[in-house]
Amino acid sequence: MKILIVEDEPSLRELIQRSLEKERYVVEVAANFQTAMQKIEDYEYDCILLDIMLPDGNGLTLLKHVKQLHKRENVIILSAKDSIEDKVLGLELGADDYLPKPFHLAELNARIRSVIRRHQQEGEVDIRLGNVRIVPEQFQTWVGEKILELNRKEFDILLYFVNRPGRLVNKSTLAESVWGDHIDQVDNFDFIYAQIKNLRKKLKEAGATLELKAVYGFGYKLIVE
Ligand code: CA
Repeated sequence: MKILIVEDEPSLRELIQRSLEKERYVVEVAANFQTAMQKIEDYEYDCILLDIMLPDGNGLTLLKHVKQLHKRENVIILSAKDSIEDKVLGLELGADDYLPKPFHLAELNARIRSVIRRHQQEGEVDIRLGNVRIVPEQFQTWVGEKILELNRKEFDILLYFVNRPGRLVNKSTLAESVWGDHIDQVDNFDFIYAQIKNLRKKLKEAGATLELKAVYGFGYKLIVE
């Protein structure tokens, strides 16, 4: 799961970043409006944490932009201005939640999990597809009644696909989501191939009814048999 933190206050930004990295999220940061705009246009995130008062613009303008681009990102507004106007406007513009500063990191974590659960897991703590069950908050994968041991990247790849069953995903989009935005600078994506190969093997050996199909020259697609 990849999160974008849009926050100009360095100490708060770093604090949130460290906390989310401990929760195993891939974390990207934007310290100003321009960087945030660029990242939102170029990449996909599972959740965007959005400060409103930025040195070169307003977070609500970014929120409008996310909606105009028809992006499916969850957005949580983090605002120092605990004004009812900001909250109402943010929610009317389509933000999923609003957290006034100062807040406890534990509460931020809980809110992130909650919006992700609501939008990507239909409110459930687990995702079921075929005979596979994934519990994202515990990083657990089950095939039937048995736990399937996956390494971190294998798990992240599988989670990415079960949230998008049947969708054809190109390698660079997958790499950015699992390894981070910087990965689009690399020359080739052979490292993905190795992880996918192991993941496929583990799924097959466990008798999973899910299969990651390679689409030659493009990427991969998750099929339920
Ligand atoms: Ca600010």
